[in-house]
Amino acid sequence: MSTLITNVGELVTNAAPDGDPGQGPGSFAALTGAALVIDDGRVAWIGLAGQAPAADDAVDCGGRAVLPGFVDSHAHLVFAGERSAEFAARMAGQPYQAGGIRSTVAATRAAPDEDLRANLARLIREMLAQGTTTLECKSGYGLTVPDEARGVALAAEVTPEVTFLGAHVVPPEYEGDRAGYLDLVCGPMLSTCSPHARWVDVFCERGAFDADEAAAVLAAGRAAGLLPRVHANQLGPGPGVQVAVAAGAASADHCTYLSDADVDALASSGPGGSGTVATLLPGVEFSTRQPYPDARWLLAAGVTVALATDCNPGSCFTSSMPLCVALAVREMRMTTQEAVWSATAGGARALRRTDVGHLGVGARADLILLDGPSHTYLAYRPGVPLVRAVWQNGHREF
Ligand SMILES: [Zn+2]
Repeated sequence: MSTLITNVGELVTNAAPDGDPGQGPGSFAALTGAALVIDDGRVAWIGLAGQAPAADDAVDCGGRAVLPGFVDSHAHLVFAGERSAEFAARMAGQPYQAGGIRSTVAATRAAPDEDLRANLARLIREMLAQGTTTLECKSGYGLTVPDEARGVALAAEVTPEVTFLGAHVVPPEYEGDRAGYLDLVCGPMLSTCSPHARWVDVFCERGAFDADEAAAVLAAGRAAGLLPRVHANQLGPGPGVQVAVAAGAASADHCTYLSDADVDALASSGPGGSGTVATLLPGVEFSTRQPYPDARWLLAAGVTVALATDCNPGSCFTSSMPLCVALAVREMRMTTQEAVWSATAGGARALRRTDVGHLGVGARADLILLDGPSHTYLAYRPGVPLVRAVWQNGHREF
């Protein structure tokens, strides 16, 4: 069953006409007056609408824009409870501290499986309705062997991009025994969780884990067959980015407080698909009233930049990639093209995926029909529900 999607005002492909997804932030690409054919869950053809081949079915987009589905490469969705009172207190002047995670840990441990599963399903539905067709999901609110195992198993029900984050914070029961908790994370917790996960992550930050501890967690994860990614340099300057690059991490996430050496390390971390992506999470700065990361500095240095939500009940409870695009443009001075590339192809790089984030021939048929003539509308009309239709794997979901 093939579907022709035609009369597309702007078709954002992030790909050359031959389907090559290209390299680097410069590869935003779009066609006007375009069409595409999807068949068997894949993009089978892209080109000018007047040259489109016949298909079993057709959708007339009425001159609206079509984009690749968003790739949200950083989310914490397995949790119970909420922290709106903490948010309100923060807006009244109290600073964000990593230890707030512990209140969600307590609620999550106490919740039955069906509550966690229902909350996860609700959030994923919310994300899909806003155009997110690929997402990463972390554990990290269990922090015991059975609770972390439950976290990764639930995440694996909804996405292949599952991240083991036992090293989120040291839980209260290990307050006086950090070494004991690290042994648990790198030993029985990792071996129980690794069959359900693709990635290992660590919160390398003052109040969480230091450079040596983070490097040990990543090395243990690698030995268990997981690929590293790191929460780095969110709350202040620190070693997180250097630890990430040294470990060959796919992504260093947050990157809010960077040094020249950090930017150099990211820029020289490896070409194309093998380097460490800087994943910026502007919803966090919005929701914690912190300074935004310097996206222009990273882009000028040639660093590959991704945008993601960091959806979680504490520091940023948005599931909206369109909001992140708007913040990146307005607050971080990314161009609309850079922001859309980073929210799609950039996220794919951060997950080392070549099948999503672009609409070249052969790509997975994940696409968004936008209620506007171009991608610019995502930032030009902030806060407006512009995602009119979503196809995931060739199936129309909305
Ligand atoms: Zn996070």
